[in-house]
Amino acid sequence: MKIVLLGAPGAGKGTHAQRLKVDFQIPHISTGDIFRANIKAGTALGVKAKGYIDRGELVPDELVIDLVKDRLAQKDCEKGFILDGFPRTIHQAEAMKQFVSVDAVINFILKDEVIIKRVSGRRVCSCGETYNTALLNGATTCAKCGNELYQRADDKEETIKNRLQVYYKETSPLIEYYKNNGLLLDLDCNDRSIDEVYSDLNAMVKKL
Ligand code: AMP
Repeated sequence: MKIVLLGAPGAGKGTHAQRLKVDFQIPHISTGDIFRANIKAGTALGVKAKGYIDRGELVPDELVIDLVKDRLAQKDCEKGFILDGFPRTIHQAEAMKQFVSVDAVINFILKDEVIIKRVSGRRVCSCGETYNTALLNGATTCAKCGNELYQRADDKEETIKNRLQVYYKETSPLIEYYKNNGLLLDLDCNDRSIDEVYSDLNAMVKKL
């Protein structure tokens, strides 16, 4: 099954994608993770993308579209995939239509104030694990690998506000776009635990 996870930064797309990946045995493709890996490795793409990401802006469409097209052409995507963070503009969605058709677009709904609180408390590890200061009890290292946790530059409060503005301007029009295409499924994440949300999400995906 070919799924797109749509929603503001910090709505929980990455966390839930990790669980879907295990339960449905399909790859989780996060364009944000791909950019961060490129920045870490110092590739030409990483160098081009870094400034945009650190400022909370979108990386230009032409740097993203071919990257996703190439990734989806790989063998592990034959049976399906979970796209997290792409498409983020109408132009990206139109471009994607030319090389793949998806089964559903799941729209994560969460209030801005929860997003800001959640993202500013997010801490990440170089191994890919994600934590929140609210649940860390003061721990500063990863429970999985022991490495030091850090805050993403674009998770600082000022940058999150900018990312939210960018989301409303550039990405949220995709809600109407996919509603009109009959592909949109709403996932209400407000006032519910991660497990409750995941249970709905899992049931939604099973029905596809
Ligand atoms: P994320 O981890 O999905 O929040 O992405 C982190 C950052 O990577 C975003 O704020 C953008 O700067 C960039 N990015 C990720 N995916 C895209 C995309 N589809 N289009 C443009 N920029 C992107």
